[in-house]
Amino acid sequence: KEEVAWKEYDKSKMYAADLESGLHYLLRVELATHQTLEGEKLKTFKDFIAILHKLFPGRMHVMKLLETLQEWLVSMPLDKIPYDAILDIVNNKMRISGIFLTNHIQWVGCQGSRPQLRGYPCSLWKLFHSLTVQGATQPETLANTAYESDPQAVLKIMRRYIREFFGCRECAQHFEEMAKASVDTVKTADEAVLWLWKKHNMVNNRLAGAPSEDPKSPKVQWPSPDLCPPCHEEVGGVHSWNEREVLAFLQQHYGSKDLSLQYAD
Ligand code: FAD
Repeated sequence: KEEVAWKEYDKSKMYAADLESGLHYLLRVELATHQTLEGEKLKTFKDFIAILHKLFPGRMHVMKLLETLQEWLVSMPLDKIPYDAILDIVNNKMRISGIFLTNHIQWVGCQGSRPQLRGYPCSLWKLFHSLTVQGATQPETLANTAYESDPQAVLKIMRRYIREFFGCRECAQHFEEMAKASVDTVKTADEAVLWLWKKHNMVNNRLAGAPSEDPKSPKVQWPSPDLCPPCHEEVGGVHSWNEREVLAFLQQHYGSKDLSLQYAD
């Protein structure tokens, strides 16, 4: 396999290239393992695209593609959709009219030091953190939708996507157990942001030292003190998180305002 040149990047930044490469992989690789979507799978996919259409922090041409896909899914009276029909929409040849999604992978903040490390699962975490943050900081985007009054809306759709489609079945099972145990305690959109942050740190803790860990990107409790000094406190000699600062950090880090376009097509 061709060697991919290492791209220098800044760990304190979010890159549009990771989110868009992740969406490309999700729609053209992960989804392609399902020949037809029907029943709960189809319902989940429709809801997933609907929430992406509202909250994905993407550039105009990607948002237009999500809109096209969402409107097409809503207009389909069928209770069964072949994957190839979805792919036709995703591959639409309307680049000229400004509707398209990159068709190759360009990991930046999700680069692995070896090809089998990081990549797609990293981008999926980033996608879901971004969606919870957008849901909390721009609630007006959900006005007049079924998600408007449900602070768990993003987490519920994420949970269903992972259960139905995420290729790592062991991950899906672990995530389902965590969601089942505590997602019901989430009462506000800010709590949804913090819930996902906490669960991700539990996964980091479990996976530290495992073979899937990239030595260039060790599994740490995140954000580390160098990324967010005020997030960390010491109470009676014991480390504790300042959750107000963590929330502010997550809102800034995963907010669309500071998304870097470096390396994005
Ligand atoms: P990742 O853990 O993928 O994190 C990506 C980026 O998110 C980090 O680089 C950092 O910038 C940021 N980040 C890190 N921690 C947090 C946090 N707490 N809050 C917000 N942002 C953070 N692998 C397994 O082997 N077993 C599993 O059970 C498993 N379960 C998974 C469940 C889900 C839902 C997902 C999406 C992935 C799961 N994985 C699992 C994969 C694993 O969590 C990593 O995604 C993968 O090992 C790649 O790790 P990474 O170093 O790129 O960092």
